[in-house]
Amino acid sequence: MDLYDLAVVGAGIAGCAAAQEAKSRGLKVAIIDRAQHPATGGSGAAGAFISPKLGSKTELLELTNLAFDYAVEFYSKRYLNYFKQSGIVRIPPTLKDSEILLFHQSLIAAPSRVLGKEELEELGIKGESKALFFKDGGVCDAQGLCRALIEGIDYYALDVKEIAKGDGYVEIEQNLRAKKIILATGYQGFGEKLRYMGIKGLWGSRGDFFTDSKIAVSMHKKVSVSATINGVVKIGATHVKSSDPCRLCNGDPLAPLVEAASKMVDLENLRIKEIFCGMRSSSHDFKPLLGRVIDSDYMLTHYEAIKRGYKRAPLKYIENIFVFNGMGGRGFVFAPLMAKWLIDFIFEGKALDSRVDADRLFLKWARRLEA
Ligand SMILES: Cc1cc2nc3c(=O)[nH]c(=O)nc-3n(C[C@H](O)[C@H](O)[C@H](O)COP(=O)(O)OP(=O)(O)OC[C@H]3O[C@@H](n4cnc5c(N)ncnc54)[C@H](O)[C@@H]3O)c2cc1C
Repeated sequence: MDLYDLAVVGAGIAGCAAAQEAKSRGLKVAIIDRAQHPATGGSGAAGAFISPKLGSKTELLELTNLAFDYAVEFYSKRYLNYFKQSGIVRIPPTLKDSEILLFHQSLIAAPSRVLGKEELEELGIKGESKALFFKDGGVCDAQGLCRALIEGIDYYALDVKEIAKGDGYVEIEQNLRAKKIILATGYQGFGEKLRYMGIKGLWGSRGDFFTDSKIAVSMHKKVSVSATINGVVKIGATHVKSSDPCRLCNGDPLAPLVEAASKMVDLENLRIKEIFCGMRSSSHDFKPLLGRVIDSDYMLTHYEAIKRGYKRAPLKYIENIFVFNGMGGRGFVFAPLMAKWLIDFIFEGKALDSRVDADRLFLKWARRLEA
């Protein structure tokens, strides 16, 4: 009988980062995925660009950029083999936006500088007069990174359907038990248990291409293009809102990406190497979802008034089950810091940042039921 301190369901970047964080604290950890290998879901499709968020000052901007600083430090100190710190050029989508570039720059702690027309041309970037350069940004090797994060951690290839409750532990299957479990299951959530979190998927594709161009930096305008690594550039990503995305792309999911990328930078002798498609999972407010899982059936049965806006009912949680989800289009940026916060919360009893605590969505969800 294996009794783990922690079992993590889902071997995407969220699950792998959480498993690594727990193991680094001396805990006995298992990771479980229905696939034989890590990073086959959204994380396998990701271009895995590590780029800050630009825009007006919102909670999401602050959180993302806090996570960006942490991710840069984490990957460059511990996983440099899987992180190409190429720097990243952020090109404003329109000329008008370039006027507010300096304002955006002032909202971000990460070091950056404005590049003018000449410098942009030297980097091979076409027809732009102003952009921001973040020297710390870059791009991860998504699969390699996930594999490296869980090195030395027991891996189980299982499709987890149910989690049985034991006395002070949870049982995943007969011989696999853990004191705590984290559900890092991406866009599919985990059945009814997580329904109040409103996890939804957004389909996307990206491609790896051979090219003769030697691109020194990664860049982003409407799409992202990586620096050339061993003769290959990554171009990503589409955002397809459809329940039938494969029909929409008509067999060529990368066509709009290639068109946009070629307007940004010269890509000589571009030949497809590999296409990746997958689903990003996000929450209603686009912020990560961390923490305990509320027993929504119990709450609805015992406190029906929550559907009419009653806010004082004490929340009842499902014992020993936690969630790590909702990182949207920035899983690789968010994962290291969110994993630290979640493991601090579960095993060190530290308070969870209310901006990412999944509890925030419960009462709103209950009220929507009545509506
Ligand atoms: C095209 C594309 C481009 C992207 N580009 C970037 C980028 O440049 N930078 C960035 O930071 N982010 C990017 N993202 C977003 C990033 O990929 C996601 O935020 C991230 O993958 C979320 O990771 P996750 O671990 O939550 O989910 P996933 O990677 O989807 O992992 C969930 C895992 O759970 C497993 N699972 C689910 N249910 C069960 C079950 N019942 N039993 C066992 N296993 C189960 C699945 O098999 C899967 O492996 C991109 C995403 C896409 C699709």
